[in-house]
Amino acid sequence: MRRTVLALLLICALCSQALVAQVGLGDRAGALTLIRAGRLVDVRAGRVLEDQGILIEGERIKAVGPYADISRTVTNIRRIDLSRATVLPGFSDCHTHVLLQGDVTSADYDEQLLKESIPFRTIRATVAARTALMNGFTALRDLETEGAMYADVDVKRAIERGIIPGPRMFVSTRAFSATGMYPLLGYSWELRMPEGVQIVDGADEIRRAVREQVKYGADWIKFYADRRYFLKDGALRSWVNFTDEEMRAFVLESHRLGRRVAAHAMGHDGIDAALRAGVDSIEHGYGLDEELIDRMVKQGTYWCPTIYVGIYVAEGRARAGAPIWLTMRDMEAKIFGTAVRRGVKIAFGTDAGGFAWTENAAKEFGYMVRYGMTPMQAIQSATVVAAELLEKPDDMGAIEAGKFADIVAVTGDPLRDVTELERVRFVMKGGEVMRNELGR
Ligand SMILES: [Zn+2]
Repeated sequence: MRRTVLALLLICALCSQALVAQVGLGDRAGALTLIRAGRLVDVRAGRVLEDQGILIEGERIKAVGPYADISRTVTNIRRIDLSRATVLPGFSDCHTHVLLQGDVTSADYDEQLLKESIPFRTIRATVAARTALMNGFTALRDLETEGAMYADVDVKRAIERGIIPGPRMFVSTRAFSATGMYPLLGYSWELRMPEGVQIVDGADEIRRAVREQVKYGADWIKFYADRRYFLKDGALRSWVNFTDEEMRAFVLESHRLGRRVAAHAMGHDGIDAALRAGVDSIEHGYGLDEELIDRMVKQGTYWCPTIYVGIYVAEGRARAGAPIWLTMRDMEAKIFGTAVRRGVKIAFGTDAGGFAWTENAAKEFGYMVRYGMTPMQAIQSATVVAAELLEKPDDMGAIEAGKFADIVAVTGDPLRDVTELERVRFVMKGGEVMRNELGR
């Protein structure tokens, strides 16, 4: 009997070791690694340095400098040769939904909420998290579970414990909207349908619900500021979901609990109301105009433009009877350059999950450049700027001593052709190599 128990324990130990090895975590505390970077993108200074060494101890970067200098100080350590590659900090996607698998039309959305259990959706979310990491995204701000309750907290925990591979997760759990302002909508009143968000009405209820989400693990609070978009006198207008008092309650209560607030805001009215309430980031913002842009600059509000998803869903939603999506797509293309020139803090965010996870979210870079950023600005939006938005400027966003060793590499020159970032060949997260088609 005792021998059987011992044998079982041994098997368990072997299994868990195999898991750790497979995920590539947990075995490098204190170990030294030296990466030789042929070209290193210094995102803070906005320049590229040649033949650099990155010395890594455990999960963090210990030193960065000319390879010859760094190499001389160490002997007998693991070396990774990326001398023929361009090396960058890992990217952060500041607007994703790992629990969603693309929803061009409302039928696609309803199908996922009605026919897929939360456990099934969570299994798919683990694949989405892995996909993001392998594409070079070492951090995600996941902006709500779309009816899957707190499953994002579980995905985050599984990644942190090394059970599955995935990016560093900053999660917002269920998100909020008001009665009648979020799917599932349009069903018989006799049916009790699942909600895509947590429905709240009134400042008291909002304060209680924010406390509840924080209690269950929300790093961020997200609410939907508007819905029902329409054109009037050339401007994108919208119905605002909450009163000023309610929006203010979201922001004050979240900030009191040390959480930042993201507001989905598409039309002028929604963005205007969210800015009056003092939110930290505007999501989508397709109806931004010069006046709103100036207020964002003054208030220090971040913008997550999510360009690619707008392009991905526009045609399908127009065919399904909502041509406004084509207009919104074109409006954003026009206003983006103005926001860049005026100095809005633009954080890279794609809404991945709003489009299928089989599409590489790095396509967003190409659109940012097409709409008015330099390739370096687009890279900065996904690195240094994103790290500030996520309140992790000392841990993430650049290849510098003290920060996590979250590092990616590509073979070409992304500063000449930014679509090169869609072809990431090397990914390291916290000192662990997660993907390597380049170095030895
Ligand atoms: Zn979204």
